Amino acid sequence: MPYKAPMKLVTCPFNKCHIFSQDRLQPHIIKCERKYPNHFICPFYNLHRFMDEKDYKEHVLQCDKKKLIEPWLYTKVTRNPVQLDIPDNFHHTGNWED
Ligand SMILES: [Zn+2]
Ligand SMILES: [Zn+2]
Repeated sequence: MPYKAPMKLVTCPFNKCHIFSQDRLQPHIIKCERKYPNHFICPFYNLHRFMDEKDYKEHVLQCDKKKLIEPWLYTKVTRNPVQLDIPDNFHHTGNWED
């Protein structure tokens, strides 16, 4: 099939008629949330919004961002707290030297 996948589309959590590409999600939510003040916000990631309390509660239990915020709950390795895991390329992003 000559079908070419378009940009990933997402639907607005407040109104399913609002469909846009994923990179528009954040600016859209900032605008749209004012129209829907009674919604629920995921405590782990503020782009996860829910109009329905049941959906929200289910989501919080399995939010994929939870791991990023509470990594200590997901690792069995006890680390020396002074030791930080900074990747080698951490200080070498961008072309600052001239
Ligand atoms: Zn919307
Ligand atoms: Zn979430």
